[in-house]
Amino acid sequence: MHEWAVAEGIVEALVERGRKEGAKRITGFRLILGEIQGVEEEALRFALRELSRGTMLEGAEVTVERERGRVGCRGCGFEWFPGEGSGEEEALHFLPDLLPLFLKCPRCGSVDLEIRGGRGIWVSSLEIER
Ligand SMILES: [Zn+2]
Repeated sequence: MHEWAVAEGIVEALVERGRKEGAKRITGFRLILGEIQGVEEEALRFALRELSRGTMLEGAEVTVERERGRVGCRGCGFEWFPGEGSGEEEALHFLPDLLPLFLKCPRCGSVDLEIRGGRGIWVSSLEIER
């Protein structure tokens, strides 16, 4: 599953970082999750808990913040958050590369669009115990 691969990457990166900082334990971290990434928060938390066992990350408190998907128009520069319940969000979740089939710029009608937010997963802060 997607979430396990993502969690594995996060655990590895955090343990590596913790080592560099001379940490005995990592007690907590904050994760920013782009909603377009299509990652289930609960599944990710579960995978993180499981994969943290026996590492310095075990028992760390995980805070998850969601970043909304943002779309920009290459034609006129307009940016917007696709609206809820319009079907646009569905398109964002599942078919980011096929955006033009589903979305068009509300200002100029162009379909020359790009995703500018909500696409990554990263750690924004880390609490360690030395
Ligand atoms: Zn436009």
